[in-house]
Amino acid sequence: MSRPPKVQWHAPGRVNLIGDHTDYCGGFVLPMALDRECVITVAPGAADRVNATSLQLEGVVDVAADGRDDPRAVEPSWGRFVAGAVQAVTERGVRVPALDLEVSSTVPAGSGLSSSSALAVALTLALADAGGVELDRRDAARVALDAEVRAVGVPGGLMDQLASLFGQVDHALLIDCRSLDIEAIPIPDDIAVLVAHCGLPRTLADSEYAERRAACERAAAALGVATLRNATIEQVRENPRARHVVTENARVLACADALRANDLDTIGALMLASHASLRDDFEVSTPQLDLLVELLVEAGAAGARLTGAGFGGCAVGVARSRDAHNVLARAADRYQAASGLEPTVFIARAGPAAGRTLIA
Ligand code: ADP
Ligand code: MG
Repeated sequence: MSRPPKVQWHAPGRVNLIGDHTDYCGGFVLPMALDRECVITVAPGAADRVNATSLQLEGVVDVAADGRDDPRAVEPSWGRFVAGAVQAVTERGVRVPALDLEVSSTVPAGSGLSSSSALAVALTLALADAGGVELDRRDAARVALDAEVRAVGVPGGLMDQLASLFGQVDHALLIDCRSLDIEAIPIPDDIAVLVAHCGLPRTLADSEYAERRAACERAAAALGVATLRNATIEQVRENPRARHVVTENARVLACADALRANDLDTIGALMLASHASLRDDFEVSTPQLDLLVELLVEAGAAGARLTGAGFGGCAVGVARSRDAHNVLARAADRYQAASGLEPTVFIARAGPAAGRTLIA
């Protein structure tokens, strides 16, 4: 009997430069894949089970390979992603064989850098491949989103999965979440992307996220449009939630233009406007994220904003590359002194897309 070769599937996390809470409204986003990723080593398993361990989290996951297990009931809880991915690929006709998976990730969990989607994308690709199916990358993004929704029940958009599956080294991705068109835009050498974690996890993120999404859907329905992508600024002027989405879409397109033109000041100004809109109109910021954004700018960043869903986690900023280390160090010192919290900071490089490596 021939055994499948041992393979590794890797999928990066992402940082979103601009365009938050727009993906599920059919709008625009401008993320980049990180050079931090989730790696899954795939080996043959036994007895029609998919087993998994993680180098970062406790517990042995043990789920049926035919997808019959309810993901929401799986323990340890990170195993819900495994069960969700098994179910999501099985529903698309993939027959998942018995497997032993080992998960290892350099994407920090719970920070707004999408460790969850890195895991879901790597699992989706690994399970489909083990079942002999090569998914189209846009389909893989949809299946990975389905896996994540089955795992945690939060109705996310497609940005994180698409960023992970279409990432390019040293490029940001302008994604149209209505058509799923993707344009890779080079990040000039002299622009550095700064990431700073505020030291507090993203509490409330799941319930508030679902509430914000529902508010956007209600606003679209009231206007008689499919999604807020199709609304005009005049139509949403009196509705702060919808106004955030419509103005944010315009900022993403302007920011993509500014990136093409290496116009750091305009990128920075748009990021600050995005943060203000997320804080005041969409109400997903926290006092800590507001402070961190303010201190990044005070330390010399051209602009900064919360990134991801909000309610804690990371801010993203931009600076001239030659200034980047000093800006981050100064902002981190001042933030720690002012808040008593310990920030984690790094300069983000745009990394490659999810893929496969054969190992001997
Ligand atoms: P984020 O996506 O912003 O990192 P989430 O709360 O959406 O935060 O996802 C974090 C969850 O993803 C973890 O609680 C865990 O279930 C799963 N996860 C992330 N990294 C790993 C890992 N290395 N091993 C196992 N599960 C992981
Ligand atoms: Mg996540």
